[in-house]
Amino acid sequence: MATAWLLRKVEDQLAKDLKETVLTFRRLARKYGVSYQAIFDFCQRKGIKRLKKQKKEHTELCKICQSLIRISKQPQSEFISSRTLKEKLRLKTNDWIYHIGILRKKRLIPEKFGRIYSKKTELAFQIYFKERLPISVIGSRAGVKNFYAVLKRYNASGWDIPAPLFVYDGDERRARFKVINGRRGRTGK
Ligand SMILES: [Zn+2]
Repeated sequence: MATAWLLRKVEDQLAKDLKETVLTFRRLARKYGVSYQAIFDFCQRKGIKRLKKQKKEHTELCKICQSLIRISKQPQSEFISSRTLKEKLRLKTNDWIYHIGILRKKRLIPEKFGRIYSKKTELAFQIYFKERLPISVIGSRAGVKNFYAVLKRYNASGWDIPAPLFVYDGDERRARFKVINGRRGRTGK
């Protein structure tokens, strides 16, 4: 048979594909340029046991993971604290670590999702996004000491933080800029 002869040259590779992957006969037929039947016959002839199709992934079946994925798709979800997320889903810390770890490993959630711990920081960000207030006022309302420094730190570690809604006038902006750049109290003035 012509196809059997064709396959002889690639039979090691094909046998390997049949044993070690879950590629369908149809896919393999396309890969090796032969018919479905040829692959099927080859598999029978060699008595190859195929791997069972993998079970559905944990994340597809897990309600917790699904909820976390859903929440993570909402705008600015990276600014929700892990404490809030845990409360929402009634997770103990161990469970949180378990599920978030799987999701991170599979990159099913944004890199920064669930990385904020403090609820105060979360509140400060919420105010920051919604209200036209000076950053210092936001900080004291949320109980965050030096919210400038916090913004600066998050910004530096790659968080996508929009510009403040509050518009400072010229002098103020200069002063704020200094603070955000950490110059106050060091180089003086
Ligand atoms: Zn899960």
